[in-house]
Amino acid sequence: MTTGVAVLGATGSIGRSTLNVLRRQPDRFRLVALTARVARDELARQAAGFGAPYHATVESRGPECLVEAATHPDVDVVVNAVVGAAGLNATLAALRAGKRVALANKESLVMAGDLVLATAAAGGGEVVPIDSEHSAVLQCTTGHPDALARLILTASGGPFRDWSADKVRGATVEQALRHPTWQMGRKITVDSATLANKALEVIEAHYLFGLGYDAIEVVVHPQSIVHGFVEFSDGSMLAQIGYPTMELPILYALTHPERLPDHGVTRYDPVAAGPLTFEQVRRDVFPTFDLGVQAGRAGGTMPAVFNGANEVAVAGFLAGRIAFGRIPELIDAALTAHSAIPAVDLPTILEADRWARAHVEAGQ
Ligand code: NDP
Ligand code: MG
Repeated sequence: MTTGVAVLGATGSIGRSTLNVLRRQPDRFRLVALTARVARDELARQAAGFGAPYHATVESRGPECLVEAATHPDVDVVVNAVVGAAGLNATLAALRAGKRVALANKESLVMAGDLVLATAAAGGGEVVPIDSEHSAVLQCTTGHPDALARLILTASGGPFRDWSADKVRGATVEQALRHPTWQMGRKITVDSATLANKALEVIEAHYLFGLGYDAIEVVVHPQSIVHGFVEFSDGSMLAQIGYPTMELPILYALTHPERLPDHGVTRYDPVAAGPLTFEQVRRDVFPTFDLGVQAGRAGGTMPAVFNGANEVAVAGFLAGRIAFGRIPELIDAALTAHSAIPAVDLPTILEADRWARAHVEAGQ
């Protein structure tokens, strides 16, 4: 029997990698639905090539098309590869409909972690991470019922890993978009340069694996070969290793806990790959990291404020309105001005998101 797949954000970096994975496994998967934001011929071509019955863009059909695709009756797994807060509704709708959500859109979990988990429990759906670090943790813990004691997520360190604080503050858009190891969309590439991405991932790990923030650590690993470490209660550690490609975690999110044979991924060669090195995060040079982790620790509506503030600040930087160094300053101002309240329902979370966006827009 084939698995029906919806790909939300099919024209993006993760979306296109997902279509590559599906193309290699025609006996196992059938593409049922795909969406993008802007109407593009590419989307219609992809849909026709796969014989997918549903394709739509937000521009032509409105944001409801994400929910329509995510809840299509022939869909078993929804790959949510939309960037930003725009992905949240579809995550919730898919989980309510009992689907597996293969989640690249980490912003869903950061904004609404408790609500996402409660919706999955009530609707019979499940969240399986695509993010490479979280896929690493899931792969290391699957089949090991032993108590999970600690996680170490790795970070490439981004393009400014060894830059001075002054130089980082004045970094240009072109410099920020030159990621050393991963090819990704513009927003997450800037998030990798500020280390906001790693803070979002710490919050994501907190919800996915049920660990407190003291048990989730981050180390910089410039080669991006070790994607994550897991420590068990007996002190044993496992790590998941491979050359940086998102196609492996995408395939695993579709098949977990099973593994499918796949020859599209270059096999890791430890001698050819050379030494693996690890360093501390330079928290003083990349203040966005601590701001995000503190927002996670504060809980309630604070992570949604961090996420919304970050999205608007990054958009302002990409549009040339603000300097790179203003990104953490604007986020900090929003977090300081916000009084967190419990994130009891979707309207509360969306209001916190709206407030944060308006606060950063006004401060630019
Ligand atoms: P891209 O910018 O490359 O792609 C984003 C996709 O989302 C595009 O298809 C875009 O459509 C669509 N989209 C953008 N805005 C909206 C909107 N408002 N409503 C509906 N669709 C929208 O991003 P990435 O693929 O790099 O990242 C996607 C998600 O995956 C992010 O959450 C990111 O953090 C996460 N992720 C990405 C990784 C990577 O390696 N790229 C690794 C781990 C996680 P259009 O093309 O029409 O604009
Ligand atoms: Mg990641």
